[in-house]
Amino acid sequence: MEIKAKIFNSNWETYKKIYKDAIKRAYRKEGIEIDEKKITLEKDCIQGKNIRAQRAPSSRHSRTISVYENEELKYIIGISNTAYDEDKRKEQKEKGEKYVYGNNNFHSNSYLCQGINKIFEYYYNEKRRYPNVKLYFYLLDIGKKSYPDNLSNNLTYRELYTLGFEILNIDSITFHDFKPLGFSPKKYKNMYAYTSFNKFANDILYISMKNSGNAPAYLQCIDSDFNIEKEKNEEEGENRNWNTTTKEYIYTFKTLGAQSYDNFLVIWTLHTLAKRENKKLKFAFLKERFNFRLHPLQGDEKFTQDFPDSITRLFEKIGIDIKYETTEEVRQQINREMQQYDTAKSKGIIRNQELFKNNMRKKGLQTKCYLCGCEVEEILEAAHLWGVAEIKKANANNINRVCKIPCMQDLIEDPLQVKKDLFDKKYALANSGDNGIWLCRNHHGLFDRKFYCFEAKDGKVLLQKEENETFMKYMKENLYQSLPKEVLTEKTKVYLQERKKETVSCS
Ligand SMILES: [Zn+2]
Repeated sequence: MEIKAKIFNSNWETYKKIYKDAIKRAYRKEGIEIDEKKITLEKDCIQGKNIRAQRAPSSRHSRTISVYENEELKYIIGISNTAYDEDKRKEQKEKGEKYVYGNNNFHSNSYLCQGINKIFEYYYNEKRRYPNVKLYFYLLDIGKKSYPDNLSNNLTYRELYTLGFEILNIDSITFHDFKPLGFSPKKYKNMYAYTSFNKFANDILYISMKNSGNAPAYLQCIDSDFNIEKEKNEEEGENRNWNTTTKEYIYTFKTLGAQSYDNFLVIWTLHTLAKRENKKLKFAFLKERFNFRLHPLQGDEKFTQDFPDSITRLFEKIGIDIKYETTEEVRQQINREMQQYDTAKSKGIIRNQELFKNNMRKKGLQTKCYLCGCEVEEILEAAHLWGVAEIKKANANNINRVCKIPCMQDLIEDPLQVKKDLFDKKYALANSGDNGIWLCRNHHGLFDRKFYCFEAKDGKVLLQKEENETFMKYMKENLYQSLPKEVLTEKTKVYLQERKKETVSCS
């Protein structure tokens, strides 16, 4: 058996150090131990006056090692970025300049993401000629810096596994920062792939909220079965017929630009998980000021800005059909919300569960029960803190007092300066994302039946029926003792304050 490895000239010095380990690990996946002395090495030369030019995005270059067995391409090994770039160091040295070796001179999320499209492009091109070729990944700089094992890179690895690609030296990654998200390799027996759309969407949110430099994306859900005329004002609870066929999820990126390479993997992973769960999914890139406000559109703004050609072309090669929300569809959705509002106003219905849930989603909160951590979407419900029935009953003085609290004022501000009447104020208060938390069915039921509530100042769980032994036993099994700080906004505190006033037993 003749094994030959090909490395591009611009990665020669760096990959020369690791190719043997990478190739041995690839063969080991098939249960084959190979003798590293049998691997021959060949340089694949790309023209260009320097490394930068050879690695230019328009060139043939990709961060890969190609492994041939008897002249047949068997593996492509995609390599991460590195801050220990031996090739650049050599080049600088030859020019008599100093290369700051090991300097953290790249953004941590470019570690594997940026340029990964070129790795996939090379793989899908070669696959036409070598249908059995297998793509693996290999990580550099392990143990030297923390970034290969940070939260956003950990997420990238899990995305790759979800898409069906393995990382040859994943065993060096601890996923330590991932523990708060409920994942550790040990606990999950090295099953890195995501199995739930909702869980993956929640983890992206958690990570983008941690990384304040990224504007978090959010997921909306439009249900064609939703009919505001059937909304009951007085009652809490939900329509419990879970039906994915009528639902459409829209994953909305607030920014694109430099993040498009990260987003490429996010989109592909979301698409894969949605398909598995028979969910309809679309993507949108929106300008924030047009986000589903109750007012007509001004101007002729284009909403969806497509990916760069390189990414769109790649989606074609992979054979996946990514759907983007068109400008027209965004307009339709805004009209739909305006119609719902008109119907609600004419019938005096202040509850709009679809709007309410999407406002909660837009806040960027994870869709999970804030008591037990349950992330099973089918049994998660949106609970009102200040109940709809209570808001409906409240008199004008009370509503105006709440609307005048400084942090609440923007709820009733209108860009078109249309004066808001009492109905409008109640509708805005009831359906504000800050008036809601996600709870599983059990915890929602107990919340509505006043078994417990939350302290307004710190979101602490306040048990109300402590004499009830079965209830107390159940509540002891909770994961969380208070609302997390991203849930407990200033507005949310106001809502909790109002709820308390209405609930005599909870003071
Ligand atoms: Zn729960």
